[in-house]
Amino acid sequence: MPLIDGFNRKIDYLRISVTDRCNFRCVYCMPSDGVEFVPREELLTYDEIERIAKVFVRLGVEKIRISGGEPTVRKDIVELVHRIGKLPLKSFAMTTNGYLLNPLADEFKKSGLHRVNISLDTLDKNKFKSLARFDGFDQVWNAIWRAVELGFTPVKLNMVVMNGFNDGEIYDFVELARKTPLHIRFIEYMPSSGGLGNEFEHARIIKTEQLKNIVSQHYELTPVTESEKTGPAKLFEIPGFAGKIGFIDPYAEHFCSSCNRIRLTSLGKLKWCLFSNDGLDVKGFIRSGRSDDELEQWIRERIIIDKPEHHPLGISDMIHVNTVFSQVGG
Ligand code: SAM
Ligand code: SF4
Repeated sequence: MPLIDGFNRKIDYLRISVTDRCNFRCVYCMPSDGVEFVPREELLTYDEIERIAKVFVRLGVEKIRISGGEPTVRKDIVELVHRIGKLPLKSFAMTTNGYLLNPLADEFKKSGLHRVNISLDTLDKNKFKSLARFDGFDQVWNAIWRAVELGFTPVKLNMVVMNGFNDGEIYDFVELARKTPLHIRFIEYMPSSGGLGNEFEHARIIKTEQLKNIVSQHYELTPVTESEKTGPAKLFEIPGFAGKIGFIDPYAEHFCSSCNRIRLTSLGKLKWCLFSNDGLDVKGFIRSGRSDDELEQWIRERIIIDKPEHHPLGISDMIHVNTVFSQVGG
């Protein structure tokens, strides 16, 4: 029986954060002195992640995404991709900053990874360095084209748009989709507990509607049908373009009511929502010697009780979110 929550809607998408560590410290995600990483033994092991993923597949999950922190910094990540890649999934994806992707991409592809989302917020090397607090533009850029070459379908580029920082590059990013099958996704910046730089607070937000208007001034956007969509973005085609343009808007809708996903943090907490403060302690449950059947039953019962009706952004516009994105996976 598929996993159904209190809204009577199927939850078929599991997002797994495999580490809270990252080689970058993006200004919108982490404070300049980084965050305190949890001790390694606190992280779920690959055996535990695989076990939980298998139970979720039994419960009806058909899509899995691996995220972080930065998933490619976790040791032997290919091993985990290989294990998850063997599960009967309709979609298996990874969100990465791309810096370490190039040498791993081949193995990921062979191990059954279907798609990659790569975060890239600027095409300017110097801006990149100040934004990621890391000098890595060339490696990320090369990884994008390697991923396209290897046939990950589609390769999605995530750009967090920030007023006065990279909004002048919106058209340059749209142009990347003219000749290549990239999906360019503009993400509305969310002030969070991670990105503590005050300069990157509310004044940096450009609302999705505004972003869409900016793009529409120069390009004809045609909505893509629901059946063609592969994520939460509002997706558009532009005549003559090989790629697509998407907009991700955490504020516009109380999107819990249409959200089909559930999140497993690197510490083994199950979260119904990116903005949930706590979560269900799956790691504690399985480390206390429970069987897979017991885990399945427990998740099935809790999901009806715990799933929130809406996330805090939906009801209160532009609040500061008590979430460190690198710890829940964005
Ligand atoms: N390290 C990987 C990466 O950067 O793609 C995966 C983890 S990251 C937390 C996942 C996504 O969250 C990225 O696309 C990133 O741009 C997004 N993100 C992080 N902080 C954000 C914020 N304050 N507002 C909007 N998006 C954010
Ligand atoms: Fe790292 Fe991704 Fe957060 Fe940037 S957005 S600091 S790459 S986890």
